[in-house]
Amino acid sequence: MSRTPWERTAPPRPGTDLPDRVDTVVVGAGITGLCTALLLARAGQQVLVLEAGRVGALASGLNTGKVSLLQGTRLSSLLARHPRDVVRAHLEAQRQGLDWLADFCEEHLAVDRHERTPAMTYAATPAEVERVEAELRAGVELGLPLEWEDRLEVPFDVHGAAVLADQLQLDPMALVEALAVEVERRGGRIAEDSRVVDVSWARRPTVRIEDGRRLRGRQVVLATGTPILDRGLHFARVEAQRSYLLAHEGAGTVPGMMLSAGSTPRSLRNAPGGVLLVGGAGHVVGRGGSELEGLDELRGWVGSTYPDARETHAWSAQDYSSHDGLPFVGALPRGLGRIHVATGYDKWGLANGVAASLRITGAILGAPPEWARPLERGVTRVAGPSAAWSLLRRNLATGVVATDRLGRAAIRPVSPDDTAEVEGQVGRDGLDPRPVGVTGECAVRAVCTHLGGTLRWNDAESTWDCPLHGSRFTDDGRVIEGPAVRPLRRLD
Ligand SMILES: Cc1cc2nc3c(=O)[nH]c(=O)nc-3n(C[C@H](O)[C@H](O)[C@H](O)COP(=O)(O)OP(=O)(O)OC[C@H]3O[C@@H](n4cnc5c(N)ncnc54)[C@H](O)[C@@H]3O)c2cc1C
Repeated sequence: MSRTPWERTAPPRPGTDLPDRVDTVVVGAGITGLCTALLLARAGQQVLVLEAGRVGALASGLNTGKVSLLQGTRLSSLLARHPRDVVRAHLEAQRQGLDWLADFCEEHLAVDRHERTPAMTYAATPAEVERVEAELRAGVELGLPLEWEDRLEVPFDVHGAAVLADQLQLDPMALVEALAVEVERRGGRIAEDSRVVDVSWARRPTVRIEDGRRLRGRQVVLATGTPILDRGLHFARVEAQRSYLLAHEGAGTVPGMMLSAGSTPRSLRNAPGGVLLVGGAGHVVGRGGSELEGLDELRGWVGSTYPDARETHAWSAQDYSSHDGLPFVGALPRGLGRIHVATGYDKWGLANGVAASLRITGAILGAPPEWARPLERGVTRVAGPSAAWSLLRRNLATGVVATDRLGRAAIRPVSPDDTAEVEGQVGRDGLDPRPVGVTGECAVRAVCTHLGGTLRWNDAESTWDCPLHGSRFTDDGRVIEGPAVRPLRRLD
């Protein structure tokens, strides 16, 4: 697929000549890792950021760039599941994140890379009106100045919308690059192409990089999207969600950052240069039908809604949703309070990532923010029967997928020509039931190196995706993202 309209301008940052001891090692240079590193560097700490790819390689550099306190129908759904003080604290965390980002953008981003604009949750069908009204009530109850609009100036059906003025939209790649520059200006070090494969701890946490080097920090922050250590069982507590984004010229503009309230959400916003972004086709990683079909459905909607639109870019990204709608932020169990994680932003990681950084740096520096107190319910919490049921349901679904896929891979009569038919999973010689993926010149063992899930071929991106916990690999088996840290076995 073509690249995103968010342009990378910074040169690579090689992972050579690294210090072997620092105050804090941050793993991952997305919004969470970079913001954490910056806050710690500003506080005078020696910080090292280790990044598997490039700065902003995953969701942080590939998202829609909306920063808003109105996030679809989140407030009403959180109020239905959590005590009011917890939801208030979560909303305050978003406010802290948004304000911090707005100040940072003012100081460090070009004027055309960020903009104040309204956010809106709209009803695309009459059936969605009730949900939008509920969100309006929830927001107002929590003190947000939400307003109701019966219609919006757009060429598709809107049956009512909740609108919140003065939110923020930005260029996410420009943001992460500016954060990285600031980290370095404050004396922090960023090493790209440095994948961490393990963190062990005797007296101090020790981080091991893929090439075998070991580095020590008093503290380690795992800002890797989903944690790469399994000890918090986060892989079973979050669900990896992937969705697509399309950029267009000639489509006109929308009146703000729009998100529909239904179960097949559409996300729209304007971008610099008269570009319209449209997002959708969300699904659990590695599950559902063909990725290309999902993408075609989104393209079909744009084609019929904006006949003059010309697609300039198409790309996708993934993020992780928790079982109870709140992010997991805090120290890992049995890590002596020295290994911190943050995950579960559910596609709202810009404000959430900053808020998580404020909480983690507060814990490291011994000054946790007061506003976060009601949220400190454990990084591995299962709160209440509905959250427990949601967790159980997700893991049952994962179990069904695992059993089904392994079963199919095992009983399938095979030949290399079966590749497409069995989603890329073929046995090597008709006797070996373990799945092998064959793509062009590469053959890999199509079994996830995290927990052994049978991988599925992603026809839109030519990658191997794990339906269990969202790890993804290139066609020749290199890790792209998810909890896995080791490449697929090659069968050349
Ligand atoms: C399609 C889509 C649209 C979105 N739009 C918005 C939006 O408009 N507004 C919003 O607020 N949020 C949005 N989000 C969500 C947001 O992008 C994410 O929540 C956020 O970027 C997550 O940030 P992060 O730093 O935690 O993780 P990531 O951005 O995933 O960064 C993790 C980093 O860690 C690195 N890494 C991983 N493993 C290792 C390892 N073993 N060693 C070293 N480095 C490693 C990765 O390469 C990556 O750079 C969207 C998400 C998606 C999928």
